[in-house]
Amino acid sequence: MNCEILYLVIPCYNEEAVLPETAKQLTQKITQMIDKKLISPESRIVFINDGSKDQTWHIIESLHQQNPLICGIKLSRNKGHQNALLAGLMTVKEHCDMAISLDADLQDDIDAIDQFVQKYYEGNDIVYGVRSSRETDTFFKRFTAQSFYKVMKTLGVDIVYNHADYRLMSKRALNELEQFKEVNLFLRGIVPLIGFSSDIVTYERHERFAGESKYPLKKMLSFAFDGITSFSIKPIRMITTLGILIFSISILMLLYFLILYFLDKTVAGWSTIVISIWAIGGLQLLAIGIIGEYIGKIYLEAKSRPKFIVETFLQHRSDHSSQ
Ligand code: UDP
Ligand code: MG
Repeated sequence: MNCEILYLVIPCYNEEAVLPETAKQLTQKITQMIDKKLISPESRIVFINDGSKDQTWHIIESLHQQNPLICGIKLSRNKGHQNALLAGLMTVKEHCDMAISLDADLQDDIDAIDQFVQKYYEGNDIVYGVRSSRETDTFFKRFTAQSFYKVMKTLGVDIVYNHADYRLMSKRALNELEQFKEVNLFLRGIVPLIGFSSDIVTYERHERFAGESKYPLKKMLSFAFDGITSFSIKPIRMITTLGILIFSISILMLLYFLILYFLDKTVAGWSTIVISIWAIGGLQLLAIGIIGEYIGKIYLEAKSRPKFIVETFLQHRSDHSSQ
């Protein structure tokens, strides 16, 4: 087995409480794997500071100074988890053969990394980490997450069930990922579109050992909404169907009122009309709103703004020559 370069890519937003411990555990893991000759000694751990407001970047800088395995990337401002992750992946892809993305809080079991690498050597370009259970989640998070996967599936979006952003991608897959120019970034939906041979690794998800979740309900909902509207046009089709249905009903109503007219009973039924005006008005507004959501997305795509701007890329001197 030839031993190739692995980079761990970890987006961090206000993670001062967990970083030192995360760095320690990951260093141990990577050192072990290097010793076992599973991966090259040029493998690295890369922390991406996503515009944190706390000491996160200082901690990354000092970890980089003390530890030859650790590198850091600083984004110019907070761009959100998905963009920070993409920034990391796109920056490291020139230096590595494979990259694994994971969260700074080590909720994802790092012992799965060996299996990821194993699957990579077996010839897979993408390896998805899949949670074996959701026992550590609150009922609410579990329920919302599962409903989300179900809705996505019904809408015909190809995503891997119970897979978050813990995954391995080969250099080849990363190069292809770069071709996806969209601004509404939902990596879980994009990565399966890349194709290549892939496999899954199941793992237990732990609780966050320190710090707070950076995904409050509001962010979670907007993430889910983005995921749906970036990948599926079925909501528009549903509106069309609804439109046809309502139009048919209005024709039936028209016939009904015509019959009443010929029977000279037109006074009755005004309430029906008032109610239908309100109902149709409401539905129209809803439809316009959802269509507007798509137009908003087209608008943003048309602008094709850069998804991230790297301010600094902290590297060890020896890594420059390995490019
Ligand atoms: N994160 C980020 N930018 C943000 C929000 C979160 O880079 O704007 C990172 C965060 O530091 C963590 C990962 O994304 O490494 C996942 O966040 P978190 O663990 O809070 O999410 P949860 O596990 O609760 O879904
Ligand atoms: Mg977490």
